[in-house]
Amino acid sequence: ALVVRHRMKNSSKWAKAMAIIKDLDDKCATPLGKLRQVADAMTVEMHAGLASEGGSKLKMIISYVDKIPTGDEKGLFYALDLGGTNFRVLRVKLGGKEGGVMQQEFEEVSIPPELMVGSPEQLFDYIAEALAKFVATESEGLHAEPDKQRELGFTFSFPVKQTSIASGTLIRWTKGFKIDDAVGKDVVAELTKAIKKKGLDMRVTALVNDTVGTLAGGRYYHPDVIAAVILGTGTNAAYVERASAIPKWHGPLPKSGEMVINMEWGNFRSSHLPTTEYDVALDQESLNPGEQIKNHVLLQIYEKMISGMYLGEIVRRVLCRMAEEAGFFGDVVPEQLKTPFILRTPDMSAMHHDASPDLKVVGTVLKDVLGVPNTSLKVRKVIVDICDIIASRGACLSAAGILGILKKLGRDSLKQGEKQKSVIALDGGLFEHYSKFRECMEDTLKELLGDEVAGTIVIEHSNDGSGIGAALLAASHSHYLEEEEY
Ligand code: BGC
Ligand code: MG
Repeated sequence: ALVVRHRMKNSSKWAKAMAIIKDLDDKCATPLGKLRQVADAMTVEMHAGLASEGGSKLKMIISYVDKIPTGDEKGLFYALDLGGTNFRVLRVKLGGKEGGVMQQEFEEVSIPPELMVGSPEQLFDYIAEALAKFVATESEGLHAEPDKQRELGFTFSFPVKQTSIASGTLIRWTKGFKIDDAVGKDVVAELTKAIKKKGLDMRVTALVNDTVGTLAGGRYYHPDVIAAVILGTGTNAAYVERASAIPKWHGPLPKSGEMVINMEWGNFRSSHLPTTEYDVALDQESLNPGEQIKNHVLLQIYEKMISGMYLGEIVRRVLCRMAEEAGFFGDVVPEQLKTPFILRTPDMSAMHHDASPDLKVVGTVLKDVLGVPNTSLKVRKVIVDICDIIASRGACLSAAGILGILKKLGRDSLKQGEKQKSVIALDGGLFEHYSKFRECMEDTLKELLGDEVAGTIVIEHSNDGSGIGAALLAASHSHYLEEEEY
């Protein structure tokens, strides 16, 4: 009788766990109809954000990039790419139309975690130090002209209100950064101060978001690039807008007639988003939470449902609940499992892609990362399902966002007889390394567009295009160029 009771207890626990997953699956569902609603809402918010400052949660930031690099850029330029756990410094030798990118060298430096949450001086001093060291390694083959000030394109991958092509104030930190004293400050002024302290003769001639850099870098090689999307630690998109379609722009109309817009789509929100209690709890306990008022105002919620900083953490939260409420991993809940952000998205991806018959990788991650030893195959299969639910939701939502941009540009349908090609430059670790995520995103976008239109849309991986893009923009906005008349 004891054995029977034990079995009954176990099977009711299992049923409880399955109910939790069923509920998760229902709430995360992204049928095409829902994704179309999300895309439409994105288009609507894009219009609102372009209409007036503060017109939407979507900032639709004017980048001041109104001439995309032409290929004529010449000379040696530096770029600095800051936005994730590493930053990169690079120098590029541009050889004009015939030469193209003739030579490039770069170095990657990891940022000590305490600097991501310390003071602005500490962070920028550290960056300037690395930059100075890198400049010191200029060689005979790749060096600045004597007596000429070096010029730098600064890729800063956070929401910045641009005040010109080479200045802008930080709106807020995202991802793993939180340095309160920097909010509201001009990030170029901060960097310039640190550069001067190091005695380096260098000026920032372009401040760009990584999406804008990726767009510029992409266009340099493919004239049909119309937008860039980052799916990495964070997520965002930039695209080329008609300047006349930006009511909030009161400056002179650029000669090109175009202006690149940094959407900051991570802060997109809509009642159509399939949010769950896990997302709300994650937002409230994250580094950069939304306001805690009735019905919670969630901050960067679209990013928190899509990007690499958060996917693993959502999975951990689901597992934690199953452990606590359904004894899914036995009678005690391991401490590790209770630790926020301990399950990183690369570990989640490894479990999701585990093709071994006994799901060995899943077992290892559970044991080593989450402190859950000796799991059965049946349990491991459930973990893979949860990874799939969370990754698919993120991938589908990002596809809907891209559809929103295409709709805004009128490229989601074919006009009679027309077959214009639209290339979207994609970059970021999630896109590059999480195959199931990427495949799901691409397949869903195709499904949303239908075969005929899908045939005109090309997703192109732009490998670290943002660094080259920033150098190109530094070049096209060089201090040494004549100011272009409008
Ligand atoms: C930032 C964006 C950035 C994106 C991708 C987001 O957290 O707000 O500015 O483009 O991450 O790096
Ligand atoms: Mg990057």
